Amino acid sequence: MKSIGAERGKRFSNPDKDFQHDEMKMYAKLYKMCGLQSTKDNDVNIAQGQCVGGSTVINNAIWLRANLKEVLPVWAKAGAHIPEQELIDNYEFIEKKLNVSPILPHETNKTAEIFLTACKKMNIPAEYLSHNRKECLGCGWCNYGCRYNRKTSMLITFIPWAEAKGAHIADQVQHVVITKKDGIANGVSFIRDNKPYLVRADKVVVCAGAIGSTDVLLQSGINPNGQAGKGFHLLGGIFVNAEYPEPLDSYDGIGLNCIAHASKEYLIETFILLQEYFRSQ
Ligand code: SF4
Repeated sequence: MKSIGAERGKRFSNPDKDFQHDEMKMYAKLYKMCGLQSTKDNDVNIAQGQCVGGSTVINNAIWLRANLKEVLPVWAKAGAHIPEQELIDNYEFIEKKLNVSPILPHETNKTAEIFLTACKKMNIPAEYLSHNRKECLGCGWCNYGCRYNRKTSMLITFIPWAEAKGAHIADQVQHVVITKKDGIANGVSFIRDNKPYLVRADKVVVCAGAIGSTDVLLQSGINPNGQAGKGFHLLGGIFVNAEYPEPLDSYDGIGLNCIAHASKEYLIETFILLQEYFRSQ
C-alpha cells in the first residue's frame, strides 16, 4: 500500500541554510499568509505554519496531553467515540518517539525561576512544561524553525520515517479536492507546478489543521449536516508583559518553559520576547 501526502507549503530540507535567525524573513517563509492570518474582523491573529511539517516546524515544542476526562464525553456527544485506553497508548508511543520529557532548568533563563517562585507565593500550582526536543541548545529560535534539528518536529521525525517506508510527500500543492464515488472518498486531486494530479486512494485522511481541513472539506463538497467549520476551537492567548528591575534576557534559552494552573478556564505560561524588536529599540 502506498501513501501520498499533499502539503500546501514548501519543504525545507537544509535547516542550517533555510532556518535563519531572522524573524521577519522566517514569518514570510514558514507561516501561513506570512504570519498575517487573522479572523474576519482582524481582531485575532492566528499563527499557523505553512510548510512540510506544518506548525510543528514553528511551534515551541511544548507537549500537553488533552484532559481526556473532559474532552472525550464532548467528542462522543459530537459523534466521535474514541477509546480512552487506545488514545493513552498512542500518546505514550508518540511521546517516546519524539523524546518528550520535562524542560530542564539549565535549558531556560531567569524567567522560569521568577515565575515559579511567584506562583508558589500566590499558591498557584505551577511547574516546568514538557517538550519534544533532544539535546536542545536553548537558542530560543523555535518559532522560526530549528536550524540545529533539536526540535523533534514532523519534518525530521514522522515524515522521513514514513518516507523510508515508501510514503511520498508532494509539497506546494494547490486546489486540493477529495474525489468521491457514490458518496465515498476515493482519491485526491490537486495542482502542482501548474500540472493537475489525481491520486486514487482507499483511504483519505484530512489533517490540515482546524482551518485548512475545513477548507479542504468544503472545497470538496463534504459538509455532513452542515457541520464543517462549526464549533471551531483554537488555542487562544493574550500576552501580558511585566517590567522587572534587572535584565532577564528571556530570549536566551527556552522562553516558553513553565505553566501555571491558575484556573479551570485558563493557564498562564511564560513566553519569549521578540529579540529583533527589542534590539532595535
Ligand atoms: S531552542 Fe532548542 S529546539 Fe528551539 S531552535 Fe534552539 S536549539 Fe532548536
